[in-house]
Amino acid sequence: MRCDVLTLFPDFISGAMSQSIVKRAQDKGFLCLHVHNLRDYTDDPHRMADDAPYGGGGGMVMKAAPVFQAIDALREEEKDVRIIIPSPQGRPFTQKTAEAFSQDTRTLVFLCGHYEGIDERVHLGLSAEEWSIGDYVLTGGELPALVMIDAAVRLIPGVLGDPLSALQDSFTEPLLDFPHFTRPEGIRGLRVPPILLSGNHEAIRRWRRKEALRNTYMKRPDLLQDRLLSQEDQRLLNEILQDGPFTPGLAQTQEEPS
Ligand code: SAH
Repeated sequence: MRCDVLTLFPDFISGAMSQSIVKRAQDKGFLCLHVHNLRDYTDDPHRMADDAPYGGGGGMVMKAAPVFQAIDALREEEKDVRIIIPSPQGRPFTQKTAEAFSQDTRTLVFLCGHYEGIDERVHLGLSAEEWSIGDYVLTGGELPALVMIDAAVRLIPGVLGDPLSALQDSFTEPLLDFPHFTRPEGIRGLRVPPILLSGNHEAIRRWRRKEALRNTYMKRPDLLQDRLLSQEDQRLLNEILQDGPFTPGLAQTQEEPS
């Protein structure tokens, strides 16, 4: 996957991408990341990439010329580009979008707005897509670009140590993930559910499925609405309802009083 990020704050991107799994993904060649400073494409001596809005009012607007020049330069190098503009006005970015990005063979170009946004003629002049990471407004497109790249990169086979872990995550199906535990077995009076220590793979699989359904039922019931459930899921959901809707799924983690 090749990603180019056009930004006024390149260190923001490079800093975040030099950590943990996304860094390893680059070291191993799964992700090829290029960060471009839009100020390098300005032609005034002060390298100004933003200006006051026509019509007055507060805030600054990112100038169109540096963006057009940066994209032209990139297109000379890379013929097949998909231009993505993070924007609160865009289509909602979901796990499905992350999957599509991770499988796209084109160079993904993230054009990060800042301040009030980018001169509208950039949107009109480039065939670009707008994607939003949620109904709230951030100071810039850098965090959304990082969010989208991160969500896509971890889906590339080989990036996560265990290829199954991405499949189990929340939203791979419209279902939340099951709860996870690690050593020690007991802490502050809370124990790991004994079934996870049983070595019985089928029982563990069933428990995890049930707890994923319980998590979804308790935290995001909208995901279960109008959904055709498998026979097993229906059975597990009935069990959950019999447990009492608000029985905590982790009741079995309470340590027996001694
Ligand atoms: N005036 C604009 C918001 C500008 S915020 C409006 O109301 O639509 C500055 C930049 O931050 C935007 O250009 C965009 O790149 C980014 N941004 C802010 N919130 C975002 C969100 N929810 N999703 C994606 N990008 C966002």
